[in-house]
Amino acid sequence: MTEYRKASRTSAISYGGKDPDVLRSVLHSLYKSRCYWCGKLKDFADIETDHIIPKTLRGRALEQALSRLGLPHDFDLNNPANLAPICGRCNGPGTKGSLDMTHLPVVASHLRTAQRFKPEVERRVREFTNRRGLAAAFVTLSAADLDDEQTRTFFKENMPSIVRKQAAAGDDLADFALYRVVEVEVGGGELLETAIELEYSSKRAAQLLETLGGVPIQTVVQAPIADLWQQIHDRVQSALEGTGDEEVWGPTTSGPPTAHYFRVDITAAESLRSKARFEFTFSGEFESHLAASLVRDNPHGWTTTILDLQGDAVVQGTFTFTATWDAGEGDDLPYAEEATIESWEQDVWTTETG
Ligand SMILES: [Zn+2]
Repeated sequence: MTEYRKASRTSAISYGGKDPDVLRSVLHSLYKSRCYWCGKLKDFADIETDHIIPKTLRGRALEQALSRLGLPHDFDLNNPANLAPICGRCNGPGTKGSLDMTHLPVVASHLRTAQRFKPEVERRVREFTNRRGLAAAFVTLSAADLDDEQTRTFFKENMPSIVRKQAAAGDDLADFALYRVVEVEVGGGELLETAIELEYSSKRAAQLLETLGGVPIQTVVQAPIADLWQQIHDRVQSALEGTGDEEVWGPTTSGPPTAHYFRVDITAAESLRSKARFEFTFSGEFESHLAASLVRDNPHGWTTTILDLQGDAVVQGTFTFTATWDAGEGDDLPYAEEATIESWEQDVWTTETG
């Protein structure tokens, strides 16, 4: 087993440092167990630490990429600002592993996220390595294969003592979080995995909903999440159709966008009661990279020409939706409204394909 020594306050956190598993574990948890490239929920054992700008990029190609991304020429590829958790599949041939850096806006978007997480990555890695034995134990625990029955039995037998230890430190600390994964069927029969991660009062609101409504929270969130997915597609499609200047070009039409990755997480819930009516508000965040083929008319040439393009959009934002349950009205089940997109950021670009 690796020994985790105390990191000095000043030592820089960097890929290739002495605690690679700690760095990997911190990235895995900060990205909420998702691969940053495909957005899918992944087990710690299937996560590797990836260089967003590949470390295989060298010389002139690296210089060009850095300058197009607006980064200094001495940008350190091993710095947390360039690191993210990736799954084995995405890091293999044919996907991120063979990225030719033509998708620079996608890379730029991932670099912004990494830059935002950098101080927290550094803080957690330092904190983690200060816990010495506990860090090593934790990494081993994260890698445990729960499909293995003996390991599962070991968990069941020994985890209660950890929960008791937390409870002894304070009532609020025991069993404080609710974690569920819900598979939502979206357009084209695709399955989208949404993580529901609620702590403290959010957890209590969700439990109240389950108790009153008599249905698991997964059932309640399915329709609003499918609806959110549709709204994001519609917004992206119209954003892509708005990319051409209609004074110069004719109208641009877009096919239905397909998602390279799609991530939706529900992170908070609250409940409001008025008489026999309960209103539950859920909120969360989403992130997606969508692409579609576009056709644009050129009405000003000698003959009408048609330009084929690929349109890409990286979008992220937050959403809310409410579910109500009214005992006075004799409601059987909580009724969920459509999702509302609360904030929206988009990065949209086109590439000529023919
Ligand atoms: Zn992946």
